[in-house]
Amino acid sequence: MKQVYNFNAGPAMFPLEVLQQVQAELRDLQGTGLSVLEISHRSKEYEQINEETQQLLKELLGISSEYDVLFMQGGASTQFAMVPMNFLTEGRVANYIESGTWSHKAVEEAKKIGRTEILASSEADQFRKVPDLQGLKIHPEAAYVHLTSNETIAGTQYRDFISTGEIPLIVDMSSDILSREINVSNFSLIYAGAQKNLGPSGVTVVIVKRELLHRIPNSIPNMMNYQVHAQKNSLYNTPPVFAVYMVNLMLKWIQKNGGVKGMEQRNQLKANLIYRTIDNSEGFYNGLAHVESRSMMNVTFSVVNDELEKEFLRQAEENGFVGLKGHRDAGHLRVSMYNAVPYEQCKALTDFMDDFQKRFG
Ligand code: PMP
Repeated sequence: MKQVYNFNAGPAMFPLEVLQQVQAELRDLQGTGLSVLEISHRSKEYEQINEETQQLLKELLGISSEYDVLFMQGGASTQFAMVPMNFLTEGRVANYIESGTWSHKAVEEAKKIGRTEILASSEADQFRKVPDLQGLKIHPEAAYVHLTSNETIAGTQYRDFISTGEIPLIVDMSSDILSREINVSNFSLIYAGAQKNLGPSGVTVVIVKRELLHRIPNSIPNMMNYQVHAQKNSLYNTPPVFAVYMVNLMLKWIQKNGGVKGMEQRNQLKANLIYRTIDNSEGFYNGLAHVESRSMMNVTFSVVNDELEKEFLRQAEENGFVGLKGHRDAGHLRVSMYNAVPYEQCKALTDFMDDFQKRFG
């Protein structure tokens, strides 16, 4: 098979051993004689996958019994609408931190539901840094404060979060969940599409504080209602069985490889390596994000001029490096290195970057 170095931004790379296990079990799930693709979501086999996957996530993230873990569909984009539909009730105001394309999209959806205010934005800086969270003027009638922990396109990330006291803090962690240790009890609701750090596309993980569920109006349609999904243990309708099964295998892989702490250490080493190569290049490569806002997951950078940038991408592709073209909103280049990307793969890339600079710099 062709040697590739997969830096896709999502859906993203899986560990080979996880793919091999899926392959090995595809026709016969744990001696049932059936594929995971052909079992009922009401079967005891799926019930066990559902329970175990929730449990693994609770253990890995240290989630207390005050929270429910839900497996939903529609991607993180559906959460942009569900959050205000469920919590932005009459007379309340939704407060958002706008740090990039994804939080902007979340704001636009909230505006369709009710009164929405942006507390801080880095749009004027082309989203190359995250807005400062100190001294935010949270509205006294705020239904919640929403932020995006890692902006996948801009390559920016919050290192620290704030406490919003009694007001629920809701976070889109689609591109950095399980990549570093966090204190779940700081947040009222966390959501994440699985397709970067914890599984395939098709399932969205929602971690929600149970006390929040009582605020949800009855008028919210069932499929859009967190309370319904929580009461039915993510089995209100047919769940994305295969996607949840793959999340299960991925969580076991994370557990086996040092848990979230192990992921964080590895991710830090990978990010340091790439940023060091950029910073030591004397302007041949330039990081797009401000240093203090740099993401450990998505490194965005440019090459000294457009011609050479095109050539870099061409040669990189020729050498098996996949997924380095930046998102159309940010242009230039992007290296996405979620949990499954090994350090050695990042080393291969920095060797290529050094070599390219030697030849063209
Ligand atoms: N939020 C963030 C931070 C993302 O990176 C993405 C997808 N790249 C989304 C939301 C949207 O996710 P989905 O495509 O699953 O709706």
